[in-house]
Amino acid sequence: MTTFESLGLSKELLRAVESEGYTTPTPVQVQSIPPLLEGRDVLGVAQTGTGKTAAFALPVLQIMSRSRPQGKRHIRALILSPTRELAAQIDERFSAYSEHIDIRHKVIFGGVSQNPQVKALEKGLDILVATPGRLLDLINQGHVDISRVEFFVLDEADRMLDMGFIRDIKKVLNILPNRRQNLLFSATMPASIADLAGSFLNNSIMIDVSPEEITVDRIEQKIMFIRSVDKRRLLVKIIKDENVKRGIVFTRTKHGANRLVKQLDQSKINAAAIHGNKSQGARTKALAGFKKGDIPILVATDIASRGIDVEGITHVFNYELPNEPEVYVHRIGRTARAGRSGIAYGFCDNSESGYLVGIQQLIDYEIPVDAKHEFHFAAAIPKPGQKPGKMKENKSSKKKQNNQKNSRNNTTSKPRSDSNRPKRGDSGGGRSNDRRSSGQNSSRGSNNR
Ligand code: AMP
Repeated sequence: MTTFESLGLSKELLRAVESEGYTTPTPVQVQSIPPLLEGRDVLGVAQTGTGKTAAFALPVLQIMSRSRPQGKRHIRALILSPTRELAAQIDERFSAYSEHIDIRHKVIFGGVSQNPQVKALEKGLDILVATPGRLLDLINQGHVDISRVEFFVLDEADRMLDMGFIRDIKKVLNILPNRRQNLLFSATMPASIADLAGSFLNNSIMIDVSPEEITVDRIEQKIMFIRSVDKRRLLVKIIKDENVKRGIVFTRTKHGANRLVKQLDQSKINAAAIHGNKSQGARTKALAGFKKGDIPILVATDIASRGIDVEGITHVFNYELPNEPEVYVHRIGRTARAGRSGIAYGFCDNSESGYLVGIQQLIDYEIPVDAKHEFHFAAAIPKPGQKPGKMKENKSSKKKQNNQKNSRNNTTSKPRSDSNRPKRGDSGGGRSNDRRSSGQNSSRGSNNR
């Protein structure tokens, strides 16, 4: 069995890892740490929850502590992250791992005053964790100098592109010095990421910790077919029946998240919303209450939830199924972190059955159906041969729905037969295929440089 010692980590880092309670390295750590220590570039297909922060932070810290440049500290490592929450968490991990090393690090992100960030920068830093907008702002104002960066980490690259950061990333790449070690982590590997990776990684090693394995192995999943109007009651029932102490509920919209928090409150369930419209203070407060256990339920939209790393999340509720299948994998990855198990409930109404088809196609797994609840609604079950994607609701289907209203509890769900089940690689939803083929391209591209 691989140990942290056998990966070649220094005794200072081994002490830090031990005090974090890590006994064995995770697969992404086993695969990334040795090549990074050798100075190689790494392209990692891994999502948050796999231990990827330590996979890059430990070797970066080790190499940096081998030599300490004379004079005032300057930024030697730059980590770009798409969201404030994730950036803050990475910085917090650097605190833990650098406990026995003389390294100064800081996180900067938008939505808060820049003054304390500027003060910290003026004192001198070794490692800067940043979101792209605030980083460029402070570079433009002359407060940040990245001209001597030795390590550049682009984290959650796919989310960066989804959030429209590509131009910012290119601007940063243009300012960075040519000689440096690069790391790119992404949960998925579509062609756009492969292109980006090919544009700045040199002779990189590609590591693939596929999200499907994480999804299927440790997380119990259930699908419940239901009318949209009944979702709230089902949610309240499960939270109360299962005495949920730490759960995340995902909604598609910010407005939906706010409304649900109010409704849960009416049912005497303490919940807080976390989404992009909330101020940084409100988000930090909600997350702190959730971490402490004062707030048992966090209602989140996808972007805000990226990188939420709270231990002991036992329940994930897909209150609304995501229209992007990969998002489902990210969401349920909030539970079952670092070797624990958890349960993920998916509430599927009749407008979302196509989303369910896409999700099951991606994870190559037919999620077990729980039809034993009082709100079971058979009309939401995907039809044989149904295509992935949103179902169009037309007048006749609405009429059908109404007719079916009375048959609510008389129906049982039938799992789809194997012949109806789309296989991985079928056209229409083959994202995992996408990932694989473009991954190959990407390593080719990067090796060519
Ligand atoms: P990350 O994917 O970096 O967000 O890490 C997910 C969680 O796993 C964090 O809470 C880490 O503290 C934890 N973790 C990272 N590496 C290990 C390990 N080798 N053993 C146990 N937990 C770990």
